[in-house]
Amino acid sequence: MNNFLITPIEYLKGVGPQKAELLRKEIGIYSFKDLLEYYPYRYVDRSRFHKVNELLEVNGFAQLKGRIVAIQEVGSPRNKRLTAKFQDETGMIDLVWFKGARWIKSTLKVNQEIQIYGKPTQYKGRWNIPHPEISKVAQGSAQGFQPVYSSTERLSAAGMNSKGIEKLVRNLLENLSGQVEEFLPEKLTVEHRLLTRERAIKMVHNPTSELDAQQARFRLKFEELFFLQMELLVRKKITMQKSKGYMLESVGQLFTDFYEKHIPFDLTGAQKRVLKEIRRDLKTGHHMNRLLQGDVGSGKTLVALLSMLLAIGNDYQAALIAPTEILAIQHYETISEMLEPLNVKVALLTGSTKKKERVPLHDQLQNGEINLLIGTHALLEPTVVFKNLGLVVIDEQHRFGVAQRARMWRKNKLPPHVLIMTATPIPRTLAMTFYGDLDVSVIDELPPGRKPITTMHKYDASRLRMFGFLKEEIAKGRQVYIVYPLIQESEKLDFNNLMDGYEAISRAFPLPNYRVSIVHGKMKPEDKEFEMNRFAKGETQIMVATTVIEVGVNVPNASVMVIESAERFGLSQLHQLRGRVGRGAEKSYCILMTGDKLSPDTIKRMETMVRTNDGFEIAEVDLQLRGPGDLLGTQQSGMLDLKIANLSKDGPVVGMARDCAKQLLKDDPTVELPENKGVRVRLSEMLSDRPNWGRIA
Ligand code: ADP
Ligand code: MG
Repeated sequence: MNNFLITPIEYLKGVGPQKAELLRKEIGIYSFKDLLEYYPYRYVDRSRFHKVNELLEVNGFAQLKGRIVAIQEVGSPRNKRLTAKFQDETGMIDLVWFKGARWIKSTLKVNQEIQIYGKPTQYKGRWNIPHPEISKVAQGSAQGFQPVYSSTERLSAAGMNSKGIEKLVRNLLENLSGQVEEFLPEKLTVEHRLLTRERAIKMVHNPTSELDAQQARFRLKFEELFFLQMELLVRKKITMQKSKGYMLESVGQLFTDFYEKHIPFDLTGAQKRVLKEIRRDLKTGHHMNRLLQGDVGSGKTLVALLSMLLAIGNDYQAALIAPTEILAIQHYETISEMLEPLNVKVALLTGSTKKKERVPLHDQLQNGEINLLIGTHALLEPTVVFKNLGLVVIDEQHRFGVAQRARMWRKNKLPPHVLIMTATPIPRTLAMTFYGDLDVSVIDELPPGRKPITTMHKYDASRLRMFGFLKEEIAKGRQVYIVYPLIQESEKLDFNNLMDGYEAISRAFPLPNYRVSIVHGKMKPEDKEFEMNRFAKGETQIMVATTVIEVGVNVPNASVMVIESAERFGLSQLHQLRGRVGRGAEKSYCILMTGDKLSPDTIKRMETMVRTNDGFEIAEVDLQLRGPGDLLGTQQSGMLDLKIANLSKDGPVVGMARDCAKQLLKDDPTVELPENKGVRVRLSEMLSDRPNWGRIA
């Protein structure tokens, strides 16, 4: 890297040792380069004044000129609010302060010409501007387009608020010309009309218009995402090269038999496509690491089963890991039944498998008698040793840590192929980034004949009406789930709620006409199973449960899913729960019950659930609401250390960057052409843990 940019920050004009110390501690700025990459998080457009009657069209912040005509304190003494009526020649709008009312009041003057800056919002149909900035009308006119930097209390106290930081950046920009290396090949900058790196960096800090800022940001976002994708693609290539896998050459008699004779329906186009992708992987001699995404009910299990038959037909063993015992048992039962006519030995292993059964099971696994092992985490124990495990399928992956996956891989001479199935679709942009080292298959088509589930959002006050609806459905012979949240931190309270709910339901649905089951995490596994079975067999009509029934459980006759305290569930969980109904021929319903005080985010979640059944669309909204860190869990968010791009908002740029990165590697697999020199330099920094990366073609 060039010397100028790595100069320690204290040598910048206006900094010095003390401020440097603060910059390092507070916001991690050590060098000139760090400051250059400390991008403004927004801009204020002081280049023009708006009129009150134009505020409808303002998207974001507005600057107005006018005068305050009245000031009023409202609300109770504890909850005081200050409002001021602000007027220009086109109309009037309220300025509102929720905090510091008394102090602000003392600074306001009626009938003096001022300019204000703030974000107009609508409240109960009326416009107001909360906490506006107020200043005297500047001589001359508006002040242009300005960057806003985030600062901290301590930085501000030392004169480095947004304005202070802006000044430092300007000092740096003065000497910048000729110091900024270009990393992107000219081909890319020309083709996509990107600014040069130097231009973009200058402009992002000092744009003269919104358009400038956008162009600069686009260039920098693209660059950031492009290199992220390059890194991921190269890393994936290294892993591929290194990781030998079992070669499953033939399709095998078992697969063919089952496919041709024992599947009672045609596979969907998507199922066929995904199977092809898997078969292709298994033939390469490299280790397969594939993520299979498909909405609830899209038929992932069948794809998994066929893949496992492929492995077994090639004389390897296969394993299927489910996140809960109930699910493992259910998989075991359906799969054993389906494989009945074939000569495949299937076994079940969970935490509650008795030692008496466990010992012979271990032997049969080691001598290869068992072809297919289904179970829970228990499969991952060191005592479980296979003769030759060829394929592991992990169902509902979001419950498993990466470390556990790794443990699994070490159980063989070669790692078994891995197929991870998830019904929590990950938005495409995230999948491309986080699972950049996995291959991703998508089942984006439901088996024919499914009726979409009707989803309703109801308030607690209408619970009796909801009970009435349940009675109608039960009278038609249907069954009902009623789910309560059970979340660790408030476990006791939640448990009480569940029990209260159960009592209320038992009263509203009395014997002998109605029978109610209950399943929750505190029950013994055998009791849970007993209740689940009663419900599955139709002996009870209502299943009151916590989220233990969230994943996988299959009772086609259940047509109503009621979710209590739905505001406490995340979108993907709500969608998962809803997926428990709509599995049979009947019209199905999902009813979301909430209190009446809801946050805007909650309202958005409920609206989204009511509007769509599409898991991918729901995942996109989830990403907007929660951001990628929350969505993926903290252990993966290290990669989210993006300086300017935002995975929830820059989806199209991610796609473009990935395509460009792929193309570059196709044209120049070892990144050694002269025109790609910048890419090579930059990538070598990123892959410093892999100094030989360039030899891998
Ligand atoms: P997922 O695991 O993806 O949620 P499942 O594999 O449990 O979904 O499938 C849901 C139901 O759909 C099962 O009863 C399964 O037998 C059935 N099914 C799977 N594929 C098809 C298909 N191609 N046509 C009709 N039904 C199918
Ligand atoms: Mg499933």
